[in-house]
Amino acid sequence: AAKAVGKGEWRLFEPKMQDALSARLLLEEDIKRGLAAKEFCVFFQAQFNSDKKLVGAEALVRWHHPTRGLLAPGAFIEVAEASSIMSSIDQVVLLRACEQMARWADMPIFRDITVSVNISPAQLYQHHFVEDVLAVIEKTGADPQRLKLELTESMLVTDMSQAIERMRQFKQAGIRFAIDDFGTGYSSLQYLQQLPLDQLKIDQSFVRGLPEDSSSLAIIRAVMAMANSLGLEVIAEGVETEVQRDILFANHCYLYQGYLYAKPQAAEQLEAMMQAEQINV
Ligand code: C2E
Ligand code: MG
Ligand code: MG
Ligand code: MG
Repeated sequence: AAKAVGKGEWRLFEPKMQDALSARLLLEEDIKRGLAAKEFCVFFQAQFNSDKKLVGAEALVRWHHPTRGLLAPGAFIEVAEASSIMSSIDQVVLLRACEQMARWADMPIFRDITVSVNISPAQLYQHHFVEDVLAVIEKTGADPQRLKLELTESMLVTDMSQAIERMRQFKQAGIRFAIDDFGTGYSSLQYLQQLPLDQLKIDQSFVRGLPEDSSSLAIIRAVMAMANSLGLEVIAEGVETEVQRDILFANHCYLYQGYLYAKPQAAEQLEAMMQAEQINV
C-alpha cells in the first residue's frame, strides 16, 4: 500500500499505517501461537423447529486467549483469512465438529440433529478440500448425512462451475449445504437453482428489523417465496424475541437460531441445557 504525499511523490507508509500493519502481524503471530497451544475451540449454537424440538447446531469457532479472554471470530477472522492461517483454524473446527457429532450419535436428544460448519472463502477452492473433509468424517466416524456446510453467496460467484463441481462431490457423500447470511449478497433464482442446496439462512440483519421495519419483512417474504419455489428449507438467524419468531412463523419460516433459544456455548453446556429442558419459549 502506497500513499500519495504530494504530486508525483509517494511515501510507502504513513506512521498510522505502519502501526496497523504491525498490529496485524502481531495478531497473525499470536494466532499461530494460539493454534500451537490448542487455544482454539468450538462452540455450538442450537437450532430449533416450531415444536421447540432441537434440530441442529452450528459450530462457531472461539479462541480461549490467555490474556484477552474468550474471543469471537470478529476479533481474528479477518487477519486469519488474509493469510494462510485460516485453513489451520478450519481444520480444527471441522475436526472438533465431527468428533462432537460422533459423540452425539449416542445421545437420544442429539442423535438426529444436523451440525453446520462455516466454510471460509479460500477453503472451498482448496485443491484437497473434498478429500480433507471426507477424511475427517472417516476418521471421526461422524455421519456425513448429518453434516451441513455453510457457504456464502459471495464465495460461490468466485468460480461458480468449480463450486458446483465440489458441491456435487459432497452431495454424493450425503453432505448438505446451506447458504449463510442469505439476502445480503447477489442471488438470482437462476443461479440458485443450479446449486445443490438444502437450506437458506435468513441473515440476522433482516430478523433484527422485525417487527418495525417493513423492508426487512418484505425481504423475508421474498426469501420465503424463493425458497418455496426452489424446494429449500429456511432457517432464520439472530432470533432474539418472541415477536420476531411469531412473525417468522406467520410467514411460514419454521426453523430458528438465536439468543431467544440459546447462545453459542460449549457442547457440555448445550447438553446440560437440553437435559434441564431450559427451552420454554
Ligand atoms: P454466522 O455464521 O452468520 O454466525 C452467526 C453469528 O451470529 C454468530 O457470531 C453468533 O454468535 C451470532 N448470533 C447468533 N444468534 C444471535 C442473536 O440472536 N443475536 C445476535 N446479535 N447475534 C447472534 P460469531 O460466533 O461471532 O461468528 C461470526 C461469524 O464468523 C459467523 O457468522 C461466521 O461467518 C464466522 N465464523 C464463525 N465460526 C467460523 C468458523 O469456524 N469458520 C469460518 N470460516 N467462519 C466462522
Ligand atoms: Mg454460519
Ligand atoms: Mg449468518
Ligand atoms: Mg456470517
